[in-house]
Amino acid sequence: MCGIVGLSHHKEAGKIAFLGLYALQHRGEEAAGIVSYDGRQMHVVKKDGLAVDNFDENSIAQLKGHMAIAHTRYSTTGSSHTKNIQPILVSHRKRPMALAHNGNLINTDELYTKLENEGSIFQTSMDSEIFVHLLAKTPNGAMAPWLTKVFSQVEGAYSVVLLLEGSLIGARDPHGFRPLCLGKLGDGYILASESCAFDLMNAEFVREVAPGEIVIIKGNKLESVFLPGCEKTKKSFCVFENIYFARPDSTIFGDNIYQVRKRLGAQLAIEHPADADFVLGIPDSGNYAALGYAQQLKMPFEEGIIRNHYIGRTFIQPTQFLREFRVRVKLNPIREVIKGKKVVVIEDSIVRGTTSRSRIEGIREAGAKEIHMRISCPPIKSPCFYGIDFPSTGELIAHNKTVAQIADFIKVDSLGFLSLGGMMSVMKNRGDFCCACFTGQYPTALPKNTDKLKLEKSGEE
Ligand code: AMP
Repeated sequence: MCGIVGLSHHKEAGKIAFLGLYALQHRGEEAAGIVSYDGRQMHVVKKDGLAVDNFDENSIAQLKGHMAIAHTRYSTTGSSHTKNIQPILVSHRKRPMALAHNGNLINTDELYTKLENEGSIFQTSMDSEIFVHLLAKTPNGAMAPWLTKVFSQVEGAYSVVLLLEGSLIGARDPHGFRPLCLGKLGDGYILASESCAFDLMNAEFVREVAPGEIVIIKGNKLESVFLPGCEKTKKSFCVFENIYFARPDSTIFGDNIYQVRKRLGAQLAIEHPADADFVLGIPDSGNYAALGYAQQLKMPFEEGIIRNHYIGRTFIQPTQFLREFRVRVKLNPIREVIKGKKVVVIEDSIVRGTTSRSRIEGIREAGAKEIHMRISCPPIKSPCFYGIDFPSTGELIAHNKTVAQIADFIKVDSLGFLSLGGMMSVMKNRGDFCCACFTGQYPTALPKNTDKLKLEKSGEE
């Protein structure tokens, strides 16, 4: 998953783009980059790790110009190698272009092979690079037909921002898998994955870029075109953005995420009430549904688990011991609140089940008498091909375990998942979501090769 930002006209575009990355940091922590444009030249800064830690005043000062795009990366295609930090910046026939992409394409193999056979030399191992090769190869006249031809060749999930010939471009695939919001700041426009970015920039939320729409922005002028036939494509907004991924202070897919999660919790309470002394949310992801659950049943809500915000990433090595240590450092249950109590613990979702198991163990060690776990979405049974980094099918705990077997593994006294119908009943635009991770019914053909590292070249480090 990734976060993207674009600015069409601001005297400190690079700085404002950095604020955008700050707000979207949760969408990717592996690396970040900003490209700015001053009317003549592109300027670029890319860093491994968190934007909030690794961009300093000096690096931001290099980002001259009135236009900028930015990207924060969580790899779902390609490794975490430095070559894969976006935005992708290339020059073709003396014209620089820069692009940042959120989502995963599904016809990568076909396009990659075709482009390589035609002589393209790929510099990265990301599907995102396909866009710039297509831009270079597609005969270009006026901007709108050129872009329409390029985006029509690509299938799958993409929300894209692009700096091209003095224009800022935003495009969203016809299914609309990933969000893309349009805002206004001063004379110019802003694009960002989530509306929470506009709040930090003091910008005004205008609307979402529609599925299948391309917006071409030059200064304060915006032209909108739609991909041919996109009105016939079934909209497929990613429901997991609503459940877990997006920030609660964002409005995407026509709804505020905090309110969506509270409604999920309330519906969960209707479907799976529990006899307990109080409701406990697993911070932060479970807290919003926990509030909705507690309010629905008029039960007390306790913040009985405290999150340590200072957990670093770099010193943690991925051994089992240190993974468990990380879980413990991150969340600490308060013994004095939990001891001797019957608790109902709310979590947004279960993927592998391993973190839930450690957290339940912690709550048990803090002295809980009974632990009833409730999950504000259905069991996740199938992988995502559109940009959520779920593990392989075999690692998804619900793929081959029943709810009773999962309860056994996590060691809870009872376990309840929200039903698919219940989940959808609380969504606005409820007919327009992709729920493939729960149902296994994918809204597109499947990619030929599902290996995340499929574009890694042999012989490279
Ligand atoms: P677990 O019990 O190990 O399945 O972890 C569950 C928690 O991790 C929940 O809060 C999930 O929403 C969160 N989570 C979110 N995205 C992912 C992911 N792609 N892979 C694993 N866990 C995730």
